[in-house]
Amino acid sequence: MDPYCSICSPMDHPVVGAVREFVDSEVRPVAAALEHADAYPHDLVTRMGELGLFGALVPAVYGGLGLDVTTYARVIEELCRGWMSLAGVINSHTMAALIVLTHGTDAQRQRFLPRFARGQARGGLALTEPHAGTDVQAIRTVATRRGDDYLITGTKLFITNAREGNTLALLALTDPKAEPRHRGMSCFIVEKGHPGFRVVKSIAKLGYKGVDTAELVFDECVVPAANLVGGLEGRGFKHVMSGLEAGRINIAARAVGVAQAAYDDTLAHLREIGAEPPPALADMATKLRGARLLTSWAAAMKDRGERCDLEAGMAKLFASESAQEVAVEALRLHGSAGALAALNVERYYRDTPLMIIGEGTNEIQRTIIARSLLERYGERFGALTSREGESADVRQLVLAVRQFVDKQVVPAAQDLDIAHAHPVGLVARLAELGILGSRVDPRYGGLGLDSRTAAMIVEELARGSATLAAIVVAHSAATHAIERAASAEQRERLLPPMTRGESVGAVAFGGGIRATRSGDEWTLEGETPPVDHAAHATVVLVEATSPDGPVWCLVDPKMAGVRVDPPVTMLGLRGLGACRIHFDRCRVSSRNRLGGVVGRDHDVLALVRLGVAATGVGLAQAAFESALRYAQQRTTFGKPIAQHQAIQLALAGMATKVTAARLLAYDAAADDLDDTRVLIAKVYASEVAYEVTLDSMRVHGGYGYTSEFPVERYYRDAAHLASSPTTNAADRAELARRLRSLEGGGQRILER
Ligand SMILES: Cc1cc2nc3c(=O)[nH]c(=O)nc-3n(C[C@H](O)[C@H](O)[C@H](O)COP(=O)(O)OP(=O)(O)OC[C@H]3O[C@@H](n4cnc5c(N)ncnc54)[C@H](O)[C@@H]3O)c2cc1C
Repeated sequence: MDPYCSICSPMDHPVVGAVREFVDSEVRPVAAALEHADAYPHDLVTRMGELGLFGALVPAVYGGLGLDVTTYARVIEELCRGWMSLAGVINSHTMAALIVLTHGTDAQRQRFLPRFARGQARGGLALTEPHAGTDVQAIRTVATRRGDDYLITGTKLFITNAREGNTLALLALTDPKAEPRHRGMSCFIVEKGHPGFRVVKSIAKLGYKGVDTAELVFDECVVPAANLVGGLEGRGFKHVMSGLEAGRINIAARAVGVAQAAYDDTLAHLREIGAEPPPALADMATKLRGARLLTSWAAAMKDRGERCDLEAGMAKLFASESAQEVAVEALRLHGSAGALAALNVERYYRDTPLMIIGEGTNEIQRTIIARSLLERYGERFGALTSREGESADVRQLVLAVRQFVDKQVVPAAQDLDIAHAHPVGLVARLAELGILGSRVDPRYGGLGLDSRTAAMIVEELARGSATLAAIVVAHSAATHAIERAASAEQRERLLPPMTRGESVGAVAFGGGIRATRSGDEWTLEGETPPVDHAAHATVVLVEATSPDGPVWCLVDPKMAGVRVDPPVTMLGLRGLGACRIHFDRCRVSSRNRLGGVVGRDHDVLALVRLGVAATGVGLAQAAFESALRYAQQRTTFGKPIAQHQAIQLALAGMATKVTAARLLAYDAAADDLDDTRVLIAKVYASEVAYEVTLDSMRVHGGYGYTSEFPVERYYRDAAHLASSPTTNAADRAELARRLRSLEGGGQRILER
């Protein structure tokens, strides 16, 4: 399975397919009425039981479906596409079942799990108290041993499923004097039926209606000692916290489901009123896709048994914030109709804030992410993204490039930038490493890498020098076009020297060059905009227009009729050598015209956009790493600034954005460069690059503004990406148009 894009299509798993059908035919038609009436959906809950969803994560030996977390997340997403409240019925129930499965005694598993799986025992999780939400260790509910029982006394607040459910996993103090406090906490399975257990009040809410959220009072409620989870006191805090990874993934999946519904409704509305697709539609799709990728990526790590607290936290943070933003956009794009109760969009607007608050508020989430980053920094190859799923060859190659970057590029990059110098020595090293032939078929001496591995390499290079990454992107676009559209003779002639670095390439996209044909020759006239790397290229692939359509020619800058201007002075990417090229009756023989179809939209342009996205990821990664290091070294008010909460929030936000951008880029690179996903990745990653480089500057304070640190270079370099090779404004408009015209609003693109 693809380690980054393990999103299964609904039909990949029969349970997901069945839930999708259930949602479309039974949930969506009634959700609005039930929600507005705040009515518990008894019939739908019965149907969810028939679908086996109460035993979704319970192993088959106990009568459950035994789904993996990835599939479970897809189930939750589907339910929330219909109505988020339904996921509430399943989620806290599942959390309670998981506590018994993971920490219960064998007898407890035998006793409770089959009942949980059948939905006979309907679970909930009772942690929060009136004065203790985020600070779970401040709970006051006590459980006192008396013979074979415990007597539980206290109040629990905001407990989902408490009225309709009957079997709660409850956290209480068994030793109120213990220090630290969590050592005195134990988890109990509390079953209804004792007079000491009262549901005192259902709590009215902004959204998430229909599902019950209640206040509970326990007054010497008798619970058999056999219900103490694991049979040992003092382990309860760990028990309830251990479910947090799954809990966060599940909140992220909820957010994806609601965001999908908001996107679908908006697209349908725009079509209905015949409106031009606004660029905001592109942003909605981008957030939705990013949220889905982060969620499935964290879920896949969980299924592989990897530690994923950090990743699950990022998924929860990104998906919940994105869902709320998508819901707001949906509301805006519906105009005044958006706020009408007759439509679902106002419900999405009301439902989404809960994902920001639940399962740990996003503020706390950011703090936890930051701590985890500080703790785990350096532990992992690739810094923030697990590459466990990659083949050993790919991992080795990316590691080799990373070492080259750390040892040779990073020490040289700052001086090269200050001198505006072309990194000629580093380009020669890239040729030795085979990187200049990364996409070239081994027949011509290249490495023949797929788009994703090539993107990983560009990302690694950009960590050291965005200029070097841009050179590789330009060169690789040229080799790729030659490989796709050149004759066998042209490939034999051009590719081996380009792979060895004896000649280097650049691509000049449609910049008003006209081509006219006379016999076997073409004459080029006109002037290009600045072409990346043109000052140092020995082969420039030029796109010209002719009455018969686009013509692609290979031009040697030294040939007659070609004049290359001196490099333009740029804010960043210094040393890249971007130049305008003038053609004055430049005659190109058929030997140097590419006969095949280069396919601007489907090929070279997509490759360059992907390269820009990967460069953005690398730049942002470098800026983030620099901020993380600096935050550990710099001290203010007697402690490292990494311990100040404002810095922690910034670090967590940066890491989450970089990760989303990376996943979007790898996702776009899969399946032979899907144009729509490439556009999504390019726009998002290029903007993340300047946001994160600016955040890094903030973390560095005054030093970040000086040339003593590379952050100001990162910030300057990032400025180029949003307009290369096309502007983000044009890309957004194109993306919105595509999404609108794609069958199902790009469902295939966004979901797969
Ligand atoms: C609809 C709904 C259903 C729920 N279902 C359940 C359930 O089934 N079971 C259950 O146990 N709970 C449930 N909850 C409770 C939920 O988990 C808590 O509301 C949530 O954890 C936040 O706790 P709090 O409301 O006490 O906020 P507080 O902890 O009071 O936080 C208030 C603000 O202070 C910030 N803050 C707090 N401490 C810090 C800190 N150290 N640093 C920085 N900022 C901080 C928070 O981020 C937040 O912004 C539910 C809540 C709702 C609204």
